[in-house]
Amino acid sequence: ALPIVAVIGRPNVGKSTLVNRLAGVTDAIVHDEPGVTRDRTYRPGFWQDREFLVVDTGGLVFDDDTEFLPLIREQAMAALAESSAAIFVVDGQEGPTPADETIAEWLRQQSVPFFLAVNKCESPQQGIIQSSQFWELGLGEPFPVSGIHGNGLGELLDELITHL
Ligand code: GDP
Ligand code: MG
Repeated sequence: ALPIVAVIGRPNVGKSTLVNRLAGVTDAIVHDEPGVTRDRTYRPGFWQDREFLVVDTGGLVFDDDTEFLPLIREQAMAALAESSAAIFVVDGQEGPTPADETIAEWLRQQSVPFFLAVNKCESPQQGIIQSSQFWELGLGEPFPVSGIHGNGLGELLDELITHL
């Protein structure tokens, strides 16, 4: 079975944009790979010689149980549980938020290797400053990326595929 990479984070940080970028040119949604569940959509991703399935998740919200939020949370947790690695997406233009800290605290207790993608860093110079704010989450190196432009993703994926 192909390794699964989950993309997680709070709402509106750019998870879906990043997934579209990682899945590249293909619109394919994988259903017939052994081990995948029909509860989630998996899209094929490639980097160097590695092939994986990338799974988008709904925005993780821990401090609000209204509407569908607990269900979305359970889905994101289930996606992480079956993943070989995860990308935790945060918003470099907003900086670290209390919601990011809550997710970070939870993520640290999981056994899945994860990579911190500081999204919305279109400018390489600004991206270094924006991403460095996220060291305070205590999750290791923040990678400045832009899901829209694609910059920075290569550096992150180089590291990530060593864990697949
Ligand atoms: P999700 O809720 O985490 O899946 O976030 P979306 O992918 O739906 O994006 C949320 C908003 O952020 C949208 O308005 C996107 O256009 C914007 N966005 C996503 N990626 C980037 C990026 O790399 N740079 C900038 N400037 N905006 C982005
Ligand atoms: Mg989304």
